[in-house]
Amino acid sequence: MLDNPLHERLKSRTEEYFKLSHHDKYHSERVYNLALQIARDEKADLKVVGAAALLHDVARALEDQDKIEDHATEGARMAQEILEEENFPQEKIPSVVHCIEVHRYSKGMEARSLEAKILQDADRLDLLGAIGIARVFTRGGWGNKPIHDPETPPKEKYDGDSMTSVNHIYEKVLKVKDTMNTKTAKVIAEERQGFTELFLERLLKEWKAEI
Ligand code: FE
Repeated sequence: MLDNPLHERLKSRTEEYFKLSHHDKYHSERVYNLALQIARDEKADLKVVGAAALLHDVARALEDQDKIEDHATEGARMAQEILEEENFPQEKIPSVVHCIEVHRYSKGMEARSLEAKILQDADRLDLLGAIGIARVFTRGGWGNKPIHDPETPPKEKYDGDSMTSVNHIYEKVLKVKDTMNTKTAKVIAEERQGFTELFLERLLKEWKAEI
C-alpha cells in the first residue's frame, strides 16, 4: 500500500505494462520508495517524484520487444495520457513528463529539475547492490548471455550491450555510482557499490575454485 491514494491509483493502473522480470512492477515500486526517500531529504515535490517513479518504465517492455525505439520518449507520452485520465494536477504534469523523458542512463540526458535528478538517482540505485546484481543476471538469462567468460574482458566504454552478465556489472553497474546527482543518493550508492564489488570478487574467486 502506498501512502498517497493518487499514487496508489497510478500504481494499479500501470501494473499491466510491466511484463519482464528485470523491469517488473516491483522495480517501479522500489524506485518509488527510493525516490520518495531521496525527495523527502532533498525537499522536492513528492507528488511529482512519486508519479514519475511509478510511470517511468511504462514503455520499457515495448522497447525490449522491439516495438518502439526509446522507452523514455514513449513512456513520457504515455504518462501524460495516464496522468490526464487520472486527474493528476494539470500544472504538475509537465514536470512529471520531463522526469521520464530524461531518466535513462544510456542516453545521458540532462535533468533540468531536482525531481528529474531524483528519478535518475533512484532508478540507477536499483542497478546496484543485491537487487542490482539479481536484475543483471535475470536480464542476462533473458537474453541467454553467459554468466561470465574469462576470455572476454569488459569493454572500456559501455555501448549498450555487454557480452556477459559479469561484464555488464563492470561496464555499467559499477559506473553508476559516479553519476548520482543528490547527496542522499551518493551515500546509498557508496554502500551498495561496496557490496557489489564484494560479490564480484567472490564470484571470480569461486570461478577459479579459490574458495
Ligand atoms: Fe527504471
